[in-house]
This record gives sequence, structure tokens and C-alpha cells, in this order.
Amino acid sequence: MTYQSINPYDGKTLKKFDELTDLQLEKALETATTCFETWRHTSFSDRATIAMKAAAIMREHIEEFARPMTLEMGKLIEQARGEVLLSADILEYYAKNAEAFLATQYLKPNSGEALIESTPFGVLFGVQPWNFPYYQLARFAAPNLMAGNVVMVKHASCVPQCAIAFEKLWLKAGAPIGAYTNLLITHDQVNRVIDDPRIKGVALTGSVEAGKSVAARAGQNLKKTTMELGGNDAFIVLDDVDLDKTVEWAVWAKMNNTGQCCVAAKRFIVVEKLANRFLDKFITALSALKPGDPMDMTTTLAPLSTEAALVQLLGQVEQAVAKGATLVMGGNRIERAGSFMQPTILTNIKPDNPAYREEFFGPVALFFRVKNEDEAVALANDSDFGLGGSIFTQDIERGKFVASRIDTGMVFINHPTWTACDLPFGGIKNSGYGRELSSLGIQEFVNKKLIRVDSINAPA
Ligand code: NAP
Repeated sequence: MTYQSINPYDGKTLKKFDELTDLQLEKALETATTCFETWRHTSFSDRATIAMKAAAIMREHIEEFARPMTLEMGKLIEQARGEVLLSADILEYYAKNAEAFLATQYLKPNSGEALIESTPFGVLFGVQPWNFPYYQLARFAAPNLMAGNVVMVKHASCVPQCAIAFEKLWLKAGAPIGAYTNLLITHDQVNRVIDDPRIKGVALTGSVEAGKSVAARAGQNLKKTTMELGGNDAFIVLDDVDLDKTVEWAVWAKMNNTGQCCVAAKRFIVVEKLANRFLDKFITALSALKPGDPMDMTTTLAPLSTEAALVQLLGQVEQAVAKGATLVMGGNRIERAGSFMQPTILTNIKPDNPAYREEFFGPVALFFRVKNEDEAVALANDSDFGLGGSIFTQDIERGKFVASRIDTGMVFINHPTWTACDLPFGGIKNSGYGRELSSLGIQEFVNKKLIRVDSINAPA
């Protein structure tokens, strides 16, 4: 049985779920396909009523949605509540703006008329990760449902309760059966769903390996995909910063969601002049974090999502040190029940160390000293990933200039890379392609159909 809720705080199994049989999967595909035929013709305002209702339900039942996240993947309860509200905001944002984003565009041809209509693709398939169990679903489902597509979702196997809760949410809000379908399916079944001719587009958020597998399969079927994959974001500290403020952001950038964010700061690149002082303060701040029950509001260090995630991260740290990196702090599991990892800093990471290119998905910071801004930019860009990044400086114009030189999908100045409904989210290189959220996210799976009117005679 793949789908299991296991509390990473104490290792106890909470619930197990059966996967769908092939027959059940076939029925679900059929229901979604039938649903699309009516949903595509449902008005924006009727769709918006449902999405607004879903947002209201999330806001009215914050605890009901937040607690399963904390129980299944260990997110600190206050962060879980924040994610419920962010997800509700996304539903509301698309309820309010979808019609305008997809309004018919009128072109100005030399003669006659030309216009571009935006029409839905059909049934879409999303494969989603556990690290933001509702936010990831919201940013896939809300724009696509509002565009008139229907969605089927395979969520990560460690968060089945959240996956089921999000499907129930749409039904409770009044969505027809088949508009949003949760699929508890195996990787083999994922491939079969991608191959199915009724599926018209595929979106994945997850690791590079999963992205390669799913994108290749969809490519064989000539189906459009969007890929939101890993990151190795740089957190660049220039020589004019307010150090205390910057270190506070560094801790947030590294430790939010226990470091398990695609856009968590993973490489701290600090100019020589401030490097020692930054490192001292960073160590002090990370040492003060208090492990404990993520349900307890006084806990500041949560467990990792699963025991397997912890074992993998410990292995990466061990390998990094074996290949020459220096352990500045941490590096071990915390001796207590549950999947807790010490906040960890590695330095002295040379380009021939695998750690130089890998993504560390958890509370592990890679620390680099550089001479100046140019070296910081060169190091930030020497990455196979290109998701986000941040620059800290008191000189905003200088910050913008440096931001323009960074090869990623997003760069933030004086704030770690983060997300909001109205800001596009996505990357380049191994971080994937396509955008979610904002006006861009809703355009990925719609047909931009040209309609041309002319009344001239054919050439003789
Ligand atoms: P993951 O192992 O790739 O899993 C993501 C999803 O893909 C899960 O539903 C998983 O199902 C499924 N999956 C994995 N391998 C598959 C395969 N071969 N065929 C079909 N489905 C497959 O990633 P994760 O460990 O959950 O998430 C962490 C990664 O996601 C990190 O690299 C992180 O940076 C990235 N991420 C990126 C973004 C972004 O927006 N760019 C956002 C969040 C996370 P199972 O659970 O059943 O294996």
C-alpha cells in the first residue's frame, strides 16, 4: 500500500489507503471527460461562485485543513494555517480575475477582423508534491478549473488525507463530480493516465527525476506539459546590508517549512567583508531553534516530512563531507523520536564536490564566501537549476542590476524568493518550464484560437 499517513513527529502510522483499481481509474477518467462537456460551457460567473465558496470553506475551517498537514508531513501548525489562507487566496484570485485574463483579444489586421479566443484544453492531469499539500493543488486547480478545464490529480503518497480533503472541498463548494478528481494511483498508473487520449495536458511539480519521467511520457504523446521542479537558490549578501535584518531573513529563507521548499535559500553567497560576521550570527540564530511537536506553537524546528527524506539528506551531508566540505554546524539527526535533523551548515564546497550541484531539501545551508558582486553572480549562475534567488543590499538600483544578471525564473531583492497569487512562479534550466499563478498561470492550458474575418476576392 503506497498511500500512508505517517506522523514524522513520532513515526506512528495514522492511516493507510488503497490505491485505485484499473477499473476505478477508468471510471474516474470517464466521469471527468463527461464533466468537461458541461463544465466548459458553464459561465465564468457560475464557476467563480464555486471557487469563491471553496475559498470561504477553507477560511471557515482553517484548523480542519491545517491539522492533517501537520500530522502527515510535519509542517509547523502556524505555517500550516498560513498555507490554508494562501490557498484560499489563490482560489479567490482566479474566481475574480479569470474572465478578464481570458477575455477575447481583438487584433488590428490590415483588413477585416481578427480575434483570439481562449478555450479550455479538456481534462488535465497534475502530479503534485507533499511539501505544500494544499497550495500546490490550489495553484494547479484554481486557474485551470476557472478556465473551463477539469483536473485530475495524483498527489504525493505521504499526504493522502490532504489530497482527499481538497477533493471533498470542491464537491462541498458545489463543483460537479468529475471537475476535480483525486487519484490515489501508482507510478505505472500515472504513465497510463498520461497515455490516455482523454488527457489533454500534464502539469508536474516535483523532483527533476519525476519531471524527466513524466515530461518524456507526455512528449511521446505530444501533450503539452508544465514542469515546476527543484531549485538551488542563491541568497546573495552584498557589502552594504543591515546584517541583523539580513540574518533574520536568512533563517526564514532556510528554515521555512524546515527547508523543504523548492525556493528555499540553498546557497548562501556572502561577500568576504561580511562573511565571518554573517556566519557567526547565522550559527547563533540556527542554534536557538527548538525541536518539538509541530502542533505545539512554541516549537520552532519541525521534523522532516518522512524518515526516508531524513535518511537521504543525512547521506548527502555525509557524502559532501567525504568529498572535502567542512561541517560548520549540525550534520546529524536529533536524538529523539521522529525524523528530526539538526540545522546544518556546510562550507568549503568545491566544484568537484557533488554537493556543489545538488539540491539539499531540508535544513542544510551551503555557505560560500566571494570577493565581490561579480564573483557572487558567477557563482549563483553556476548551477544546473534556475528557479529563484535573492539579493540583499541597501542600494535598490544595484540590487536590480544584479538581479538582471541572475539566470533564474524569479529574483527577489531584500526578501527571500516567495509566492503570491498575482506573481508568476516558475523556473528555467533543470527547474523546469512554464509558469503558475498570476495572469500567466491561467494561459498554459488554453487554446489561443485565431478567428479571422475577411471579405476580399481570391487572387485570380
Ligand atoms: P517527487 O519525489 O518528484 O514527487 C513529486 C510527485 O511526483 C509525487 O506525487 C510523486 O508520487 C510523483 N512521482 C515521483 N516520481 C514519479 C514517477 N517516476 N512517475 C510518476 N510519478 C512520480 O518530489 P518530492 O520529493 O515529493 O518533492 C520535492 C521536490 O519537488 C524538490 O525537488 C522540490 O524542489 C520540488 N518542488 C518544486 C516546486 C516548484 O514549484 N518548482 C514546488 C515544490 C516542490 P509518489 O509520492 O507516489 O512517489
